Amino acid sequence: MPVNIGDILKGQYKVCRKLGWGHFSTVWLCKNLLDDGIPTYVALKICKSAQMFAVVAQDEIKLLRETKSMDPTHIGYKHIVQMVDTFKLISVNGIHTAISMEIMGPSLLHLLIQSDFRGIHLNGVRRIISQVLKGLIYLHDVCHIIHTDIKPENILIKVDENYIKSIIGKTERFAELGLDMPRSYVASDCWVDKDRDDDLDRDILSKYEEQRGQSYPYDKFLGELTDFRRRHAEPRLNAPMWVSPNIEIKIADLGNACWEDHHFSSEIQTRQYRALEVILGAGYSYPADIWSVGCMTFELATGEMLFSPKGDKEPSANLDHLCLIWETLGGIPQYITERGTNARQYFANGELIGIQKALLRIWRIEDVLVEKYKWKRVEAIPFAGFLESLIEPDPALRFTASVALQSQWLNMND
Ligand code: ADP
Ligand code: MG
Repeated sequence: MPVNIGDILKGQYKVCRKLGWGHFSTVWLCKNLLDDGIPTYVALKICKSAQMFAVVAQDEIKLLRETKSMDPTHIGYKHIVQMVDTFKLISVNGIHTAISMEIMGPSLLHLLIQSDFRGIHLNGVRRIISQVLKGLIYLHDVCHIIHTDIKPENILIKVDENYIKSIIGKTERFAELGLDMPRSYVASDCWVDKDRDDDLDRDILSKYEEQRGQSYPYDKFLGELTDFRRRHAEPRLNAPMWVSPNIEIKIADLGNACWEDHHFSSEIQTRQYRALEVILGAGYSYPADIWSVGCMTFELATGEMLFSPKGDKEPSANLDHLCLIWETLGGIPQYITERGTNARQYFANGELIGIQKALLRIWRIEDVLVEKYKWKRVEAIPFAGFLESLIEPDPALRFTASVALQSQWLNMND
């Protein structure tokens, strides 16, 4: 749907800035112009118009309605991004479903980028993962919903309203100057990293020069821009002010979620966060989300993905993924290798087909942390223990969200 900054949608939502996008949608920061009980700032998710996307959007709305109404007093309620309003938009491309949601800041992926992929402090990881687990207890135990796409991009960080205002201030300044927004500014999201931030400044300058029809020295321009930013109390776009010790997160994107008793698809989850039972085609339920939490916990702590299988073609990506899981867990119990519609494609007699055992290098999490990431063993042992309970190969034995929340590692303090 062609949306422009400054557009007013539904006679109510003024489009201020692009917040992000996914497979199904683009999400915009909007200002609510009415005094109608809806918050001043919202994130407006505008779904693609094709019929297939419309059906998915309707499911997402149903799921969001349920999570909104089921039990607002539950401890996990505030860790799910809630829907505010929903309506339809008509464009040249067709009908689009729009969902306004409470406004959030950057995602955990931005946080990882911001850490230069070195990971974040373990107390921060504990705080974040505890909140993710509370959100999942609510989704699983109360709403009977499986999220199916837990990953850093879909966990959003809360920012305060002043931060939102400062982002908008810049857009409004453009309008004041009578300048069009530079293309890259419109196309990127708000939480760009340092390099892209510099690119952005250069873009703003070239736009400025273009519209004035004369050149302007970059240093001088940068000085003025800095002044302007200071006046508007605008943080640098890469400012880590949202990385506070009091970080609060919410689970977003119910676009792929399903009910425990009503699945939409047999293949779920983003590759790197996909649970063993899903790879094997052995059916799935809430434990699949917990596996993803395990992968994400490792990634937050180290800055690197726990499993990143090579290739995206089947069966080779699955086979590589299974090898990586085997190496990390030190093997997979034979009864697990016999379950699932894909199991026989990859395993025979409990062993990976076509893979020489000698080529598998068992490398348990504890040792990876010590050898590769230089953790102290006393730190690595409890952390690895926690992780292994989340990526337990048997979904029936895997920690549930509420058991994980009580675990020793999560309640330790460094
Ligand atoms: P999709 O289903 O298309 O993946 P998402 O719901 O994940 O869509 O939204 C895409 C991106 O938009 C997210 O990764 C995030 O960066 C941003 N986003 C989504 N919801 C919000 C929100 N409530 N507040 C701020 N940003 C959001
Ligand atoms: Mg998404």
